[in-house]
Amino acid sequence: MTPADLNDSLDRHIRIDKQHALSLAKLGIRTVKDLLYHFPVRYGDTAALTYIQNAKDGDEITLYGRIKKLKLDKTFRTKIARATAVIEDESGSISATWFNQPYIAKMYTEGEFVKVSGKIKLVKDSHVLNNPSIEKVESMPIGVGDDLFSQDGTRTEELSPIYKLTSGISSLWMHHAIQKIFTSEIFENLVDPIPDEILKRYNLPALRTALIWIHAPQKSNDALSARKRFAFEEIFLIQLQKLNTRKQLEHKTSYNIDISAKTLDAFLKTLPFTLTGGQKHVVDTVLKDLGSGKGMSRLLEGDVGSGKTAIAAAVAYSVTQTVPTGQKFGTLQVAYMAPTEVLAKQLFESFITFFEPFGLKVGLITGSGAYKFPSKVGNEKYTNISKPQLMKWVANGEIPILIGTHALIQKKVSFKHLALVIIDEQHRFGTNQRAQLANKDKFLPHLLSMTATPIPRTLALTIYGDLDLSVLDEMPKGRKPAITELVTDAKRKDMYEHIRGELESGRQAYIICPRIFEPDAQKQNVIMAKSVIEEAKRLSQKEFKGFVVDVMHSKLTKIEKEEKMEKFARGDTDVLVSTSVIEVGVNVPNATSIVIEGAERFGLAQLHQLRGRVLRSSHQAYCYLYSESKSEQTLARLQALKSAKTGFELAEIDLQNRGTGELAGGKQWGVSDLGMEAIKNLKMVEAARTEASTIIEEDSLSKYPLLEKIILTKKDIHFE
Ligand code: ADP
Ligand code: MG
Repeated sequence: MTPADLNDSLDRHIRIDKQHALSLAKLGIRTVKDLLYHFPVRYGDTAALTYIQNAKDGDEITLYGRIKKLKLDKTFRTKIARATAVIEDESGSISATWFNQPYIAKMYTEGEFVKVSGKIKLVKDSHVLNNPSIEKVESMPIGVGDDLFSQDGTRTEELSPIYKLTSGISSLWMHHAIQKIFTSEIFENLVDPIPDEILKRYNLPALRTALIWIHAPQKSNDALSARKRFAFEEIFLIQLQKLNTRKQLEHKTSYNIDISAKTLDAFLKTLPFTLTGGQKHVVDTVLKDLGSGKGMSRLLEGDVGSGKTAIAAAVAYSVTQTVPTGQKFGTLQVAYMAPTEVLAKQLFESFITFFEPFGLKVGLITGSGAYKFPSKVGNEKYTNISKPQLMKWVANGEIPILIGTHALIQKKVSFKHLALVIIDEQHRFGTNQRAQLANKDKFLPHLLSMTATPIPRTLALTIYGDLDLSVLDEMPKGRKPAITELVTDAKRKDMYEHIRGELESGRQAYIICPRIFEPDAQKQNVIMAKSVIEEAKRLSQKEFKGFVVDVMHSKLTKIEKEEKMEKFARGDTDVLVSTSVIEVGVNVPNATSIVIEGAERFGLAQLHQLRGRVLRSSHQAYCYLYSESKSEQTLARLQALKSAKTGFELAEIDLQNRGTGELAGGKQWGVSDLGMEAIKNLKMVEAARTEASTIIEEDSLSKYPLLEKIILTKKDIHFE
């Protein structure tokens, strides 16, 4: 038998029946390591009061549970709005009622985890809670969360760990399973991947201590230290992996491209505008990278509309003016990847405009076809050609610029001299694909990745640790900011009237709703946040009667989505009612109004991005935020949209102002909730980065075999 290992299947060490195995799989627990790293979401400090079962008349309690049977109606005689719900925990359930707070029913969804505080009352033999305070908790460290990295919090209450569970697995089961591992040989032999001296430097507990402290703390301070350690560990490992990837790339050769100021100026002169200082700076930085002798790996962050395409075009142009080393003719090539067909086509058309004066050839390849500019036929600008034909021209170097969707990689396109890969809003694609594009060529193409997705700097430093960062924080001059308004029910009528005016003068509008469908019929009493389907129906019969209203959401097929988007882009649709899926970067300059229903449900950065959809033209844009929330904090948060300058600034505000529970968005970046705690802490992110880069720079990863193994087997974070 092979020696016991953390990656052993759990049932090698604990007896698990089939049902348990299924439940554990739901929680993502398969190996010993999965179990040990399934950390408590909180600690029930005064456990007796926390459980519903133990509640007594008159008790002031705080309990955590799942929300069930959410309902909104009116009291019988007084006709006061009344929201009711059942809160259920492991021990039992209790009914809760809120008077005059109908929005409660809209802000929560059945099945969600909530924290509820209030006074227990005995009504007709049952315990109830009237007007308790309520908040969402999803799955995060309550009580320890926000002071994770502070030094206070010396409480001595009982600290029983409470886990995120699923049916079939109780906290008690978890407790026993973990204790069993704690007393096993596997635990005895655990090796800490983090080097000792690093743990010492930051006063972090060693792995075994930390595991005991996090699962069975005696003091809350111990639990805090342990969480701090694991948060650090996560960020450190990501950084280490990213920096290692980067180091590997340094061994590869990229084209050394020297571009003269004259070449660049020739292109810039043809633009209908002059570059902003910010754009100029980024172009200079990129050109310097290209001529540095090393492969470029750069991420350009810039809000929607900040003019990233012009930067990409200037750089692409410059690269194509370079003759491959050792040749007398031919040019270096550029591949430009966009996330969707619509965007790829838009880019293709922009590039044609940019490069027409120079007679530069441009190709387009998507899932549905291949095109080439210039056309030899009639007065068409570009021609539909066969894919093999396009591939042939790309392979022999005749087409210097190829734009495309994922088809660029999937179709195994080969280039003759691919020098630069530009990626627009693909968030990130792995280093493998970049190498794949380079295929036969012995050179690794330079990489310019561009994003308008606002994330905080600490997160960027971590997940993009292998890239250099450029931030474009200046908008082209003369751009009118959107007029942003918080709308109340009273102002709804005016809002629709104003939008109708816009539509009548030929403009278009987006209406964003938080959900796709109305909840099922049985739950008709519950007025939930507006849904795309219902709202589109309502608007087309009422406020926007006579206009063409269409819908867009994630349940549509890819083809349907693209068709609808194209219809909207053509102006055939007046009003697009959509969830927040409307594609990042889609450019419909004629859309000037956007209404965001249930605005409190979106993060600030996301709201900012949605608003960016209507900032694509010289027309005045309008953004209406509707929220039923009466919370001052929420309203203040929404107000920040009027003052902050960039989406990245808003992402920062979001990060700092949100409670731990609301940070859960980290998952889309491959960072856990606990890891997001570290992301809130600049010092910790910097510390992790310093340590990681020291190891990589000193080339000493091999001194830490376990660390090396983890890094090399860890999947590269790859987001869609
Ligand atoms: P994004 O950064 O979202 O990709 P785009 O590159 O699509 O932004 O640019 C948005 C619009 O701004 C385009 O219509 C583009 O022509 C225009 N633009 C870009 N740079 C400038 C500039 N320096 N001055 C004026 N307009 C500009
Ligand atoms: Mg763009």
